[in-house]
Amino acid sequence: MNYSESRPNRRVLVIDDQESIHFAFRTIFRSMGDTASSDQQTPASLTDQQEQIGYRVDFAFSGNEGVQKACQANADNDPYAMAFVDMKMDPGPDGIETIRRIWNDCPETQIVICTAMVDFSWPILMDELGESDQLLVLKKPFDTAEVLQLAFALTEKWNLARQARLNARQMEQTVQSRTLEIKQAHEKLVSLNHELEHAKEKAESANRAKTEFLANMSHEIRTPMSAIIGYAEILEDGLSDAELLSVAATIKRNGQHLLEILNDLLDLSKIEAGKMSIERVPCSPYQIAAEVASLMRVKASKKGLELRLEFGEKFPETAIIDPSRLRQILINLVGNAIKFTEQGSVTIQGRLATNDDHLPSMEFDVIDTGLGISLDDVPRLFEPFAQADTSTSRKYGGTGLGLAISRRIAEQLGGSIEATGRPGCGSIFRLSIPVGPREDLRVLKNIHEGGVIEEDSLATSSTDIVPLRCHVLLAEDGLDNQRLITYILQKAGIEVSVASNGKNAVEMAIAAIEADEPFDVILMDMQMPVLDGYAAARQLRNSGYKGPIIALTAHAMEGDRENCLAAGCSDYTTKPIDREELLDLVVEYASNKNVSR
Ligand code: ADP
Repeated sequence: MNYSESRPNRRVLVIDDQESIHFAFRTIFRSMGDTASSDQQTPASLTDQQEQIGYRVDFAFSGNEGVQKACQANADNDPYAMAFVDMKMDPGPDGIETIRRIWNDCPETQIVICTAMVDFSWPILMDELGESDQLLVLKKPFDTAEVLQLAFALTEKWNLARQARLNARQMEQTVQSRTLEIKQAHEKLVSLNHELEHAKEKAESANRAKTEFLANMSHEIRTPMSAIIGYAEILEDGLSDAELLSVAATIKRNGQHLLEILNDLLDLSKIEAGKMSIERVPCSPYQIAAEVASLMRVKASKKGLELRLEFGEKFPETAIIDPSRLRQILINLVGNAIKFTEQGSVTIQGRLATNDDHLPSMEFDVIDTGLGISLDDVPRLFEPFAQADTSTSRKYGGTGLGLAISRRIAEQLGGSIEATGRPGCGSIFRLSIPVGPREDLRVLKNIHEGGVIEEDSLATSSTDIVPLRCHVLLAEDGLDNQRLITYILQKAGIEVSVASNGKNAVEMAIAAIEADEPFDVILMDMQMPVLDGYAAARQLRNSGYKGPIIALTAHAMEGDRENCLAAGCSDYTTKPIDREELLDLVVEYASNKNVSR
């Protein structure tokens, strides 16, 4: 019978060279139902009955036989739970050597040393066999109860120890399988992370491609539009016939409208790509509001609307913000108010306030008496391409980008835009932007006691172009733009020479210096054949050219300005050319010629 993990192991080995001792053990165990006897026949009926309740006892007459039986039992996976070992045996190894050898092969075996030698002390045993909880000593002559108690206790202990080992093994297996599961889960996570990373890279590259596409589109559309708007302006200047004038104005208006849409798309793509650059410079928000009111009043009065600009008791004198972005938001809010109002008025109310972070902020309410909005629609209106309803958008036009862009810019400035209103009862859009640290706050008081401001007197007047004697080198390959820019400059009294690529421009600029008649300003298109504007500017700077070079580019994306300046340009302006801006720049640099930044 093999040892089974589910049954207690009651297998006992008696190793003693005395037949009388074997007899004594056999008698004792038989009383408990021992089943086996290596050297005695047991009736089959008795064996069956004893097997259910008793021990299985084997006998060996020498240490060698005992070791051999113990090893065999172990190899058969039916080990002895314990062995009674005589100390002094003849022939063969004595008890101590026998135990050593049994433990060598079957270290779990519990041993009871049976000895009649009264002087065989425990310390000597410990010395010989090492300290062990598997070793007991039984003095001969022993009595039945003593043997049975030991047999019971030690086989029980063996079983418990085996159970503990089994549990530990199971536990170890559980830990191993859990560790494997965790490892597999971790590997899965790592692979998922890789996939995610891959997907992210793909999305980012798609986004980059989109941004580049928009930049290229912008360039492609801006260049011809620059010519269309510019020529419409030229036509307007020279026309007397009312119909032709109106045709030119229509071309210009539509061109400008397209340009606005293009700028909105570009702004949105910059914001989404996280590339919208925000300046922070001290400026006067009051002046900006006045400029916007002045600009938008023309539009309002065309619809018969009154446009008012009012201020509370206090208003910040300066703010550290991006002036052009504040202007852009206000133009959008006031533009919408005018667009969606048929009669009544549009009022811009400015005041000093404190925001949620207890910082001073400027607040602008743009209030109109128009169409109004439903509060349910409000969150949606700030999403890109969202409009209150499609019939409205057909009637009033627009792309649905303005509010989305305005809110995102306001947020980048640390502020917010909220809206409220009722259908049919007008709307209020509130812009709130922090103005900088409280310590630096200077306040305008009682600008006009809650009344109307005569903002026109405070707004900067549009640029007065001072006729200037100067000579400009225009490096531009596009014939339309060559003619347009030449016309604008010449009309302002400026002499113009044209180079059709960067190489010609470098040669002409150097030749002019050698002839002691240097150009006052070089206007350098950045995209040109043969040698582009970047390389031409670099060559000029490398040759020691000190005069101003103003970059002209149809690229209006983030980083273009920096690229132009890095190539050695003194300044930068975008196409379509803004007449006043261009002349301003030329005048500024022509009167201060050594401006090589
Ligand atoms: P657009 O004006 O080009 O449609 P906006 O993002 O500026 O895009 O505005 C989104 C929508 O919000 C508008 O189409 C309109 O439905 C609504 N809206 C904005 N301002 C007003 C306003 N002052 N009065 C009524 N509706 C407005």
